[in-house]
Order: sequence, then structure tokens, then C-alpha cells
Amino acid sequence: MAEGCQGRTMRNKCGARSLLALAILCIGLISAQSSLAQGTGSAKFHVDSQRLQGNLEKLSEFGRNPEGGVTRMGYSETDMAAREYVMGLMKNAGLEVRIDPAGNIFGRRAGTDKLPILLFGSHIDSVMHGGNYDGDVGSLGAIEVIRALNNGSVKTRHPLEVVIWTNEEGNHFGLGTLGSGVAAGLLGPEILGRKDEQGLTIADWLRRYGQDPAHLTDARIPKGALAGFVELHIEQGPNLDEGKIPIGVVQGIVGLKRWKCVVTGFANHAGTTPMNRRKDALAAASKDVLAVREVVRAETGRQVGTVGYMKVEPGAINVIPGHVEFPVEMRDLDAAKIGRMWEQVQERFKQTDKEENVATECTPLDDVDPARSDAAIQNAIRDAAKSLGFATMDLPSAAVQDSQQIAKIAPMGMIFVPSRDGISHSPKEFTSWQDVANGAEVLYRVILLLDERLNRN
Ligand SMILES: [Zn+2]
Repeated sequence: MAEGCQGRTMRNKCGARSLLALAILCIGLISAQSSLAQGTGSAKFHVDSQRLQGNLEKLSEFGRNPEGGVTRMGYSETDMAAREYVMGLMKNAGLEVRIDPAGNIFGRRAGTDKLPILLFGSHIDSVMHGGNYDGDVGSLGAIEVIRALNNGSVKTRHPLEVVIWTNEEGNHFGLGTLGSGVAAGLLGPEILGRKDEQGLTIADWLRRYGQDPAHLTDARIPKGALAGFVELHIEQGPNLDEGKIPIGVVQGIVGLKRWKCVVTGFANHAGTTPMNRRKDALAAASKDVLAVREVVRAETGRQVGTVGYMKVEPGAINVIPGHVEFPVEMRDLDAAKIGRMWEQVQERFKQTDKEENVATECTPLDDVDPARSDAAIQNAIRDAAKSLGFATMDLPSAAVQDSQQIAKIAPMGMIFVPSRDGISHSPKEFTSWQDVANGAEVLYRVILLLDERLNRN
């Protein structure tokens, strides 16, 4: 059976478009370059976990900080050096490498049929004082998948492309998911003049990356060009680690809404104003903060709500606060739920206004729609994990991702692997090498399952 599966295209190999179970079994039995037996069964790994670990360790040297993580912001000297290293890995894996005018790196492996591209990858830029796993695991995991396919002489119907998106974190220029945003047509020439702290513009940096900023919009990927986009990523939250679940199936990337609220009371003498005659904006705002928490906690689900700061005026020990500004942020996979919670919050604010004799005004700041993962890609991730004997958990991504942008132009899915203690954007970020390898092997199988299943007439 293993022999019958090996070294031919997926279509010929399994010849089982109608028999899902057989297809999965076939994939499980491809024996090329197995390096580890994993999971609860005896399924063989196609990715080489040691090679992947070695490459990730090498990548972690670019921008290493004293705490052992990295500071490798998009559009920086360290990012440029790391990109050279990663492009070398891509070329060694036989990929045909190109850079688009936004600085995104693509590496192509031809398919046997004339079909849209199956795209997978992540980003290699970090936040200030970031860790070694966010983005890196999915980027080098994707290259490892190509190496594994090459080792097994596996051909695919779809052309495969590995992508390294530019400046996902957005610490530089304050514009996250920049490369994928341009690719998805959400960002355009209006960003080129943005200046960094040294006075350099995005256009200047694109030139340093060898690109012509005048052609920025050529980086747009037309709808229909991609069969799908799959991103392997660390969870950056505690759910998988706590549940001891190796693979997360991302249901989508949560949307968020933010408002700026201002409570107006009356600043007056803290000694001479009787308690029943006060218009204390801070006392009112404090009730409002707790109201946000209570409303968000009252719903079932994984929604979150946060008040991140308060600006109190005049801010003196002997003056009743007359003016307080605070933001409200809510995130969930369901935009309607955010809307519902916000209505309740506003009711509570009105109640506080009456009780405290103040006036509260909120104005919208940000509104980012949730991005749902594609059902077929989620199924492929579940099936791939199952073929390895891995338990899975369905969960949303509460962090912003490139996948969120690409969801606007193509079916999208994400594979999560555990983050120890849910820590991320920190040098303490950690995912075990075993979990990294598990994720890469699932990605390998997902790509083959999608190649088998998608674009069938
Ligand atoms: Zn990331």
C-alpha cells in the first residue's frame, strides 16, 4: 500500500477522489523521508524536525536580543539580513523565488495542472523584544513542507507557493499586516509617504528592498488566483497548552471594535463639595469599566472586552475629576455579538450617567470585521491531524493575522500549535520542537489533502 502511494501525483497515487478515508490513509502511509513516529498511532513524519529546528535556530540569530528573543522589525537591517537567509533556504528547496513590489517574498513549485495557486507561509518580522516562534514557525515550516515533498518526489496538481509576508507586526510605521494588506488590495499608494522615526518613508524602505514603490499595487493578488491560503502559526494564547491539545483548527480571526468614551462631570473642590452634590467623572468612569467587564462576562463564548487606559483631568489630589477619557475594545468572531454587547454597555453607561450626574459620549475608533476560515480548509486540518492521531481544538485567533487580509481574496485556514503558558510577543515565547514539528507535518498533509480535494470538476 505504501509503495502504491509513493512517488506519484496525489491524483494517481490514491485515485480515490470519492474515498476520503482512503486518501487520508494513503497520505498516512507515504513513507518518504520519515524521521519520527508521532501521535498516538505509528504515522510517519515526512517533515524533518531536526532540519526545521536547525533552520529556526539559525533564523533566531538575526536580531537576537539579550533576553534570547529577537527584535526584527519589518523594514530594518536585521529583517533584510534574515530575508536573505530565508530566500537562500527557499532556493535550496528548489523554489523559484520572487519578491513583489510590497516586499513580500514568494517561492514557487510548479504543479502538474493549470490550476490556481495553493499558497502557504507566514512572516519573519517580529515586534520589539519579540520571541522566536511567532511567524517564524509558519514560514520555515512551509519551506520544510516543500523539502519533504521534494524528498518524496511528490507532485501536486496545483502549483504551490510559499510566502513570507512583509511587516506583519507593524511596529515599524504603525501599520500591521502591511504586505498582506497590499496583496489583498486593502492598502495602496497612500501608505508610501508614511515616515518612520528616522524620517524614512515606506517608499524609501521599499527601494532598499529592491522594489519600485510606483508599482506597489502590482502586488495585488486578483481574486481567483489562489486556490487557498494556509498559515501555520503559534496560538499566542493559552488554550492548546492548557488543554494539552497539539493542533488548533482556527475557526476564524476575531473582529474588533473600539470606541473612545469621554465622561464629563464637574471639577470642584475635594474638601468643600458635599458628597451628594458631586459630578465625579472618575467615579462614574470606574463604574463604566466594571460594566464593560460584566457585560462581556455575561455572554457564553470566547469574546473579550477591555478598557486599556484612563486619562483623568485635572488629575490633582484635591480636585474632584471633571473629565475622564477611556477606550472600550471588544473582540469576537461574531460581529453581531459585539454589536449586542455594545448596546448593553451603552445602556449601563446611561444608567451610570443618571446615578453619578455626569454625561458620557462614545465615538467609534476602529471597526475590523471578523474573518472566517474556509470550511473545507478546516476539515482538511482536522483530517490531517486525525491521520496522525492528534487531538484538535476548534478556536478563534484572537490576534491579528495576515490570514485576516488574505481571507478577503481567497479561502483561508490556519493551523495553531501550542504556546507555553500562552505567552507571545515576548522573548519568553516558547513552543516545543515537538509541537513545531507536529504543526509542520499537519501542514504537509493539509497541502496534499487540499491539492487532492480542491478544484475538482
Ligand atoms: Zn504572527
